[in-house]
Formats: sequence, C-alpha cells, structure tokens
Amino acid sequence: LRRPIVIANWKMNKLPSEVERYIAEVSPKLAAYPHVDAVLAGQDVLLNAMVTAAKGTSIEIGAENMYWQDKGAYTGETSPAALADLGISRVIIGHSERRNYFRETDEMVNLKTLAALRNGVSPIIAIDEAVQLESLNDHAHWIVNQVVESLKGVTREEMSRLMLAYEPTAAIGSGQAMGPEAAQKSLHVIRQTVADMFDQEVADHVRILYGGSVKPANAYELLKQPDIDGVLVGDAALDAATFIELISLAE
Ligand code: 13P
Repeated sequence: LRRPIVIANWKMNKLPSEVERYIAEVSPKLAAYPHVDAVLAGQDVLLNAMVTAAKGTSIEIGAENMYWQDKGAYTGETSPAALADLGISRVIIGHSERRNYFRETDEMVNLKTLAALRNGVSPIIAIDEAVQLESLNDHAHWIVNQVVESLKGVTREEMSRLMLAYEPTAAIGSGQAMGPEAAQKSLHVIRQTVADMFDQEVADHVRILYGGSVKPANAYELLKQPDIDGVLVGDAALDAATFIELISLAE
C-alpha cells in the first residue's frame, strides 16, 4: 500500500565538490533494493550538481526549503517554479530547524505547501514537537494542530502527492531517537488526523516518516511500526555507505 522511503537531509553539511562521489557510491547499490524510494535533500547551491549526478539513477533529489511565491522581487529566496524547472521532485517544508531558527510559522508552512503543489514539487511537510522526549505523547493536540494548519486548502487529489514527517525537536541531532512504540503513537495520531480531515482511504495512502537520530542501530525497529513508512535522516546519512545500509533496512 505504501512504499518505504529513506530521505537523507544533508542540511548545511556538504560542498558542491562532494556531491558526485556520494551519488556515484550510492546509485549502483540501489538496484538491490527495488522496494525502497531513495531521496537526497540538499541546500540550494548543491541542487544543480545533485540533479546532474543523479540523472539516469533511481535517486530523487529534494530541496530543503523554498519560498511560497512563484517569482518576483524576493531577494535571496528560492522559487518553487525554479526548483521544478531544475528537476527537483520534492521539497522539505517546515523542518524543525526552519521553525526554530528562522521563525517559520504554521501559516508559512501552509503557504509553502500550496506553492510546492501548485508547481509540481511534492512537499515533505515536517511536523515537530518542542517538548522533552518523555512527555511527547501528552502533546497530541500540538501535532494535530500542526497537521490541520499545514494541510489547509490541500485537496484530496493533492494528498497523494505529499508526505508528512514527524520530527520531535528533542530527538534531532541528539543521538537519542524516540522509542519505536512512542514514535508509532505519534505517527498514528498524524494518520488519524488525516483520516478526520479527509477520509480513511486518503489516510491509508499518505506516507508518514519519522525523523530524529535515526541510524542503522534503530532504523529497523522504527520502520517495523505499522504507521512508520520511512525515515528522514540527518547525520547518519551524510555517509554514503550508511545511507545504503538504511535503505537495506527499509527493504
Ligand atoms: P538527525 O538524523 O541528525 O537527528 O537529523 C534529523 C533531521 O532533522 C532530518 O531532517
């Protein structure tokens, strides 16, 4: 029903000169894992090199952010139309780091989601949770609210073109992932929210990912959970061999 997916979020960690080698290492190995989608997300200055290096492979290239206007006088911002024109198929929207360091609000996330869909770029909408790991499941309303606000104005058809990613802030870059059962509980809340907003069929088809200190040691247990369709990986995926290992665990 839902294809497993592993997304590497390189954040601001790689140089243009490092792209080709990483993709050359990963791409020949992917044939062994035909059931898993592999996505690499990089900062804007890498995207051209990433698209070029991934041409003819099954790797999809994603952006880490974009603006919500298609074009105009917005110095320094990235246009969703330009991403589409470059061959970028996905974009992460509302990452916890965007929300916390750059003050992105639910409303901005919603505008960006609609802009990505309008331009044919598939959004990966990140849902965060700014509380300590122990109390995460007491905060279902926080998750529900972000899902509802992010998806305002999204049509039933457009739901088949987007993904949601749950990334509790406390688990990002901490080395300590959320426990698989607790993560499952949060992802189930997200899927139930989609069912309430649309219907069960839409909820059954939408892919939902977990992110936050995912590594080979914990990925299998996370991916085994019924509502966890994939993982969004920062640090561990900076290494090409580890990215492949994560793909193999999702197969
Ligand atoms: P880490 O895997 O480094 O915790 O980062 C997770 C993340 O933010 C992916 O988007």
